[in-house]
Amino acid sequence: MSESTSARYARVVTDLALDREFDYRIPPELKERVREGSLVRVPFGPRELRGWVTGLTDRAEVDPGKIRDLLEVEGDRPFLLPVVRRLARWMARYYCAPIETAFRTVLPGAVRREGARPRQQLTASIVENAAGEDGETITAKQERVLDILRESGPLTLTELTRRAGTSQAPVRSLAKKGRIELKYADLRRDPLARRPVLRVDPPELMPQQRDALERIREASDSGQPRVLLLHGVTGSGKTEVYLQAIRHVIDHGRSAIVLVPEIALTPQTVDRFRSRFGDRVAVLHSHLSDGERFDEWGRIRDGKADIVVGARSAVFAPLEKPGLIVVDEEHESSYKQEEAPRYHARDVAVVRGRMESCPVVLGSATPSLESLSNVRKGKYELLGMPSRVDDRTMPRIRVVDMRVEAEREGKPVVFSRLLIEEIRARLERAEQTILFLNRRGFSSSLICPQCGHVAQCDRCSVSMTYHKKDRRLKCHLCGAEVRVPERCPNADCRSPEFKYAGMGTERIEEILGRLLKGARIRRVDSDTMRGKESYDEVLGDFRTGKLDLLVGTQMLAKGLDFPNVTLVGVINADISLHMPDFRAGERTFQLLTQVAGRAGRGEVEGEVVVQTFTPYETSIQAARRMAWEEYCDQELEFRRELSYPPHSHLVCIHFEGPGEATVHEAADRFAQELVRRLPETVILSGPAPAPLARIKGQYRYHLLLRAEKTASMTRPLKELMSDYRFPRGISCRVDVDAQSLL
Ligand code: ADP
Ligand code: ZN
Ligand code: ZN
Repeated sequence: MSESTSARYARVVTDLALDREFDYRIPPELKERVREGSLVRVPFGPRELRGWVTGLTDRAEVDPGKIRDLLEVEGDRPFLLPVVRRLARWMARYYCAPIETAFRTVLPGAVRREGARPRQQLTASIVENAAGEDGETITAKQERVLDILRESGPLTLTELTRRAGTSQAPVRSLAKKGRIELKYADLRRDPLARRPVLRVDPPELMPQQRDALERIREASDSGQPRVLLLHGVTGSGKTEVYLQAIRHVIDHGRSAIVLVPEIALTPQTVDRFRSRFGDRVAVLHSHLSDGERFDEWGRIRDGKADIVVGARSAVFAPLEKPGLIVVDEEHESSYKQEEAPRYHARDVAVVRGRMESCPVVLGSATPSLESLSNVRKGKYELLGMPSRVDDRTMPRIRVVDMRVEAEREGKPVVFSRLLIEEIRARLERAEQTILFLNRRGFSSSLICPQCGHVAQCDRCSVSMTYHKKDRRLKCHLCGAEVRVPERCPNADCRSPEFKYAGMGTERIEEILGRLLKGARIRRVDSDTMRGKESYDEVLGDFRTGKLDLLVGTQMLAKGLDFPNVTLVGVINADISLHMPDFRAGERTFQLLTQVAGRAGRGEVEGEVVVQTFTPYETSIQAARRMAWEEYCDQELEFRRELSYPPHSHLVCIHFEGPGEATVHEAADRFAQELVRRLPETVILSGPAPAPLARIKGQYRYHLLLRAEKTASMTRPLKELMSDYRFPRGISCRVDVDAQSLL
């Protein structure tokens, strides 16, 4: 640490939920060590708290006589880069979130936590040029120890003795002779240690890839914060373009961040980056242990890794001089965090790019309407990659009208004749199939055939899902479970015949087992895939041909690349279409397109069969014809008429409480206060019961605000909330740019 600060006060955010910063005096002995971004200890009332320094100043906001001293500075370097601090502030303001939640978000708990430190182990290394003294004898065992160290570099004592097959004694005596050195060193907890990868040279790019790469390089060299939307169909080689763009960027001494949706952050994805860049790649995602996360974060901060591949929060990686930020699958709603600050990682990436004069590439086969609309406004540039690598054809998509099937069979059916025939054909040719249904459980709900009673969760306004294996009804919202009742719960009915309605992956698996004797079928959803290992294992078995068919939920829709899959079936396209949400059509289009992209990634052409009760629905037809822009044009028109995003920004305010009337009343009163402060340009709807009107016994209302500028809504909102008192038991949360209205 060199220069000391001349400022007198430090502004500090603590972990307390107060949405405020506090000033502390910097005592002379800490002047050398305190920096903006330092992690510090401060007195707070009778207590001691930890916090971050958000700023240094000579002017305190309170009476200098009352200011107390900083107690301690932790660590020898600031934990937060200036740009990350700015991002935290921006988030708190834009997403209308308490400042402490923003600071907590930008620094992982594993790094922030008290006592988080590197793991140290006794490590042995060769002392160079330490020629043995005359007459010194080296035993055979000691010679072996030296050979191993020469060959493999420094090793921990444990590892060294294991490899040499000796006790510690020969190692210790070599150390005494000065031939090797034994000392405590940081031991890297490497999440990828057990996955060796081979270095792979980049392939020759296709013309469309070369053009896209050229534009990205040029943007990177320009040093301007440009945003490029890369619309490339599935299998068009987007990832290869990212890889080569990153090569260009790091060759110019800058670094890169790649965001991938958590669900697509499979070891295979990470391997592709590591096989090109080796140890320069750090990964950040939710399956790391605290130790691994601490070490990966440290490698980034210390400049040992200059390429970060990670999920949502990797956008805050402590990486200096980024020359490129990539957001893959930019349309994914999982980039939105569901707790405060409810940030959208894609949008934060664009803001970081602007702060660092660094280009941002948003890639997708089905870009969001928000991003397309930014292209049309001239804010983003569009790059297109319309064909697949090697001009492999796009899969043919056939839509099956399930009403016609039901008529022909005289009853509703789960599988159309076409889909079953196509699956059988695959089995005969030893090709593979993926079947897709975005709902788990055996059947969606239990309906009484006598009275129509549906088993509902007591605490949530949704029906319970039937899970056959354990004969239980489960609520997918709150997790409540009950045994399947013997009789209809309706007291006036009590019929013993409960009928299975709808369907889930478990039932599909069972029916398939019956229809396709001998086929090797596995189900992939969050019920069967509890650990990451089981998921990797199933995918491994599928890749090596030990399985014929996978049935699964969205887990299967993203980024998987299996050359032998020539058929994809969508069992019921209507499920996502009937969500009570204005984005339902867009989501259905994206889902079908992504799912179709899993077919025909090898030599053989792929086919897709989509089963639906609404075959003429716009999003289904557009997905069938792969007409992205045409679909967007129609959908944008619809959104314009209703002033929904991207024609406006949407702020959703949720109210929750134990009694319906009190929640309704509290929401009404808040809305009245708010209206008085909002400019006229803001459209206000509600308060109204939320589409999921009750969760875990809590009643829910929401209030929607729409306007062109977010600040015109959030500024008055924050002002009102700063001193607003809700009645007891009522909670309120604000979701800026809400992705879902549920
Ligand atoms: P996307 O990310 O658009 O789905 P990928 O980058 O994963 O596409 O490419 C699809 C497949 O084609 C991958 O197996 C990849 O290794 C391969 N590939 C990509 N670009 C090329 C190329 N120029 N030449 C040969 N193979 C390529
Ligand atoms: Zn009944
Ligand atoms: Zn429930």
